[in-house]
Amino acid sequence: MKYLGIELPKPKVAVFGFTSCEGCQLQLANNEQNLKDLFALIEVVEFRLISSDKLDGYDIAFVEGSITTEEDVDALEAIRAQAKLLIAMGACACLGGVNNLRERFQLPDAVKEVYGKHKIESGEVRRVAEVVPVDIELPGCPISKAEFEWLVRQLILGIEPQFPRYSVCVECKQRINTCVMHLGTLCLGPITCAGCNAVCPRNRAGCWGCRGPSEEVNYESLAEILREHGFSEAHISERVSFFNAFAGNQVLPTLNEA
Ligand code: SF4
Ligand code: SF4
Ligand code: SF4
Repeated sequence: MKYLGIELPKPKVAVFGFTSCEGCQLQLANNEQNLKDLFALIEVVEFRLISSDKLDGYDIAFVEGSITTEEDVDALEAIRAQAKLLIAMGACACLGGVNNLRERFQLPDAVKEVYGKHKIESGEVRRVAEVVPVDIELPGCPISKAEFEWLVRQLILGIEPQFPRYSVCVECKQRINTCVMHLGTLCLGPITCAGCNAVCPRNRAGCWGCRGPSEEVNYESLAEILREHGFSEAHISERVSFFNAFAGNQVLPTLNEA
């Protein structure tokens, strides 16, 4: 592959999924418009959603999903040992994500409700970075196709990818959006990393924090604003806890503490 006449390496890429809805992997597979161009840039050696091939060796591993079993740990460690670059992909992998909801229910009851008599083994929900070193976190629930492609291009060109660290509010205001808080909708935009073009607030839904905490998070200020707007502690704690993005904050209530 050439860029501006210069020969560039074509990295071998593998995509793996752990506990997840596979929605992030689907974003990649279900991208017919650009898939051909993307495959001109990389060699996909393993990606269950698009091929049963499993070729030896890869440089970059994209890992979707949370780690919830000891088998997951072994598999992830093997991936880490092979990959030169390990990229956690999506909120489940980066934050624990919606899988963390599991911590709030008695597992046998929840399993029975969903799976009937089928037995499901599941342990503590862990982020990928809690188990092995992660080189890059690609945020979102699901990830954005465009951001994935941008990331791949940056890596091929040897550029360290820089994700926005400022808050969703910045992108929201750049788009001259009416703040949904004034319309009675709770929004975590002030403490959440931008990069999604404020897609939820632009569509009159508040932000749920799927891209993780922004830099210089001011929990005190957001708590004050949310209470001023009349949102209940239960409402706030449900929203803050949803993606497990703000675990460890001591100011906003979380569901486990509520
Ligand atoms: S981050 Fe969201 S879309 Fe991606 S696997 Fe997890 S739940 Fe699915
Ligand atoms: S809608 Fe949300 S992201 Fe937009 S300005 Fe209001 S709080 Fe910030
Ligand atoms: S607005 Fe918030 S919840 Fe919606 S995509 Fe962006 S970061 Fe995720």
